[in-house]
Amino acid sequence: MRHIWLPYTQMKAAHDPLAVASTQGSRIVLTDGRELIDGIASWWTACHGYNHPHICAAVAGQLAQMPHIMFGGLVHEGALTLARRLTALLPEGLDRVFFSDSGSVAVEVAMKMAVQFWLNQGLGERSRFVAFRGGYHGDTFAAMSVCDPEEGMHGLFAKVLPQQFIADLPFGADQAQAFDALLERHAENIAGIIVEPLVQGAGGMLFHDAQVLQHLRAAADRHGLLLIFDEVFTGFGRTGTMFACEAAGVTPDIITLSKALTGGTMGFGATIATNTVFEAFLSDEPAHALMHGPTFMANPLACAAANASLDLFETEPRLAQVAAIESVLARELEPARACPHVRDVRVKGAIGVVELDRIDDLGGLKRRFVEAGVFVRPFRNIVYLTPAFTIDEDDLHRLTSAVVSVLEEWTRL
Ligand SMILES: *Cc1c(COP(=O)(O)O)cnc(C)c1O
Repeated sequence: MRHIWLPYTQMKAAHDPLAVASTQGSRIVLTDGRELIDGIASWWTACHGYNHPHICAAVAGQLAQMPHIMFGGLVHEGALTLARRLTALLPEGLDRVFFSDSGSVAVEVAMKMAVQFWLNQGLGERSRFVAFRGGYHGDTFAAMSVCDPEEGMHGLFAKVLPQQFIADLPFGADQAQAFDALLERHAENIAGIIVEPLVQGAGGMLFHDAQVLQHLRAAADRHGLLLIFDEVFTGFGRTGTMFACEAAGVTPDIITLSKALTGGTMGFGATIATNTVFEAFLSDEPAHALMHGPTFMANPLACAAANASLDLFETEPRLAQVAAIESVLARELEPARACPHVRDVRVKGAIGVVELDRIDDLGGLKRRFVEAGVFVRPFRNIVYLTPAFTIDEDDLHRLTSAVVSVLEEWTRL
């Protein structure tokens, strides 16, 4: 530990990360022999549970054949197949896939695509973005600039970030009016609108409905702006449909995917654009090509894992499992509403959220969950569950009862 720097962790304070020896399904085995039920599936990536044999076999096979090959000037079957399968699953029109290695980079690529879409047409002044309070899009610089500037983890960097337009999601008439007015005033300088559809994840686990997204689509169309859906959190079944844009009935111009893309096996990202976006890059001018290319883009191991993960969505009843988890979470987290300081209990798909007015001792609360035999990682004022879709009924019940009983005791202290 003397040589490790942990994420989002004040290293001067006491911290005691748990040492993990192995994983299986929805279980985390610690080096001291304790076994925890996992409530968040490694930042909601491990949607099929850990160590799914089908994904493990696909990655092992690929490892023997070709662990990596650069994607400059060379392509391979795994990437071509994956691109074809992703575009077939996404709404009609989203046809071109650019691979990268993480969610933040997928967002960076989406933003660069949007800016260059206008640059290639001689409209360089259309370079800024509209993003939303409560949003989270990653930790790199462009991604930070479109996160919620106050609630996020990046307030410190405000002065060095590109200035974007941060708006309220158009929930009600007032916000919708303010949003429309913002576009009226500034559309000339805006490249696109970026939003996490239906669920704002790491920014606070906030939900909104399809109408909000329909409003954004109509506004983007009115002003000719690109609409970017960041589905890094919501993609691959988490909200109940394969992608949130499906449930909303709204097709964005660009969509970003990562997190559950490889079923939680390894880092990977994809940015998918419509043909209209893609065509703005077709030109006799070499500099009009998309100017991006991560060293490990379309890594064959990651493609094999992602293809195997898509197999499982086809052969196993994942979305039915999400629906079943949704009803268990709704029923079994509801009693938490009666605890003092609990402000809201909400559930969408395989996401369960208990929101408090505040949590004073996050570290202490995390330790209480571990003592109760579960791994749950509350942040700010939020306790949430995003389990694997394959979690069995007993384990799911133990998670919800741990959340309710720990909060009952904790909020009365
Ligand atoms: C996690 C997340 C990201 C960032 O992904 P990384 O792989 O951590 O870079 C971006 N957008 C959303 C919506 C996310 O949930």
